[in-house]
Amino acid sequence: MQNATGNQGNMDDDLPPLNITCTSSKCGSGLHCFMQKQQQGKNNETQENPFGRGGRCRSCGADLVEWDRVCQRDISDVAYTFEMLKYELIRHHFWHIEIDQKAVNHALRKGRSGMRAAAEKRIRKSVGDATPSYDGRQTPKTGNAIFYAQHATATCCRKCIEEWYGISRGVPLSDEVISYFTELVMLYINERLPQLEEEGAKVPRISSGRKKQGKQPESSAPSKNETLWNE
Ligand SMILES: [Zn+2]
Ligand SMILES: [Zn+2]
Repeated sequence: MQNATGNQGNMDDDLPPLNITCTSSKCGSGLHCFMQKQQQGKNNETQENPFGRGGRCRSCGADLVEWDRVCQRDISDVAYTFEMLKYELIRHHFWHIEIDQKAVNHALRKGRSGMRAAAEKRIRKSVGDATPSYDGRQTPKTGNAIFYAQHATATCCRKCIEEWYGISRGVPLSDEVISYFTELVMLYINERLPQLEEEGAKVPRISSGRKKQGKQPESSAPSKNETLWNE
C-alpha cells in the first residue's frame, strides 16, 4: 500500500513490515508500554487524575514516568519528556528507525521553516479536533518525517495524547497545546534530520553520500499521503 510510488530498488522500502503496535513491549530490554488496559486505567482514577492516565507498564508494572511532570508540557523540561518517551517501545522504535528517503527528500525541499508550518497544520488536522475520524489510524508510519515525529512524541492520535499528556479525548486541542506539539515535532526533526536548511532546497536526486549507490530519486507521482499532507 505504501509502496505504490514505484521506487523499486530503494532499500528503505525493503524494511520488514512494522509489527510493533502501541501496546507492544519488550520489558526485558527496558522497553515498555504505558498505555493502560481499561481496568488498569480505572484503577488509576483519582480526583486529581480523573482519566486514570499515567500508570505503570501494562506488561511488567515498571513505574518509570513522573506523569505530572510530563503533563506540564513545559518545553524547558522537554529533555525529560523525550527521555521518558524512549522507554516506551513504540516511541523508541520511531526515535531510532531510519527515516525513509521519500520523507527525507520531502523535508529537504521544505526546509525547517516549511516543515514547521506543515507540522502545525498536520497536528491541527490529524489530532486537533475533539474526535478525529479514524483515531489511532490517522498517522501513517512512513512517507513524511512529521509522521515519524508524531509517533515518536506520542502526538499521533488522541489516545496517545491522552496517555502521555493527560488531555482527555473529546475536547479540541487548544492553540497552546498545538504549538507545544509542533515544537516537539520540530525538535524530533532537528535531531533526526540535522542536515535540513532553514529554507527549502531543490532536491533533484539523493545526495546524502552515505548510501548514495543504488538510490534513485523518488517517483514524481504523489502518493496518497503526499496528496493529503505534503503540500
Ligand atoms: Zn514493562
Ligand atoms: Zn497514537
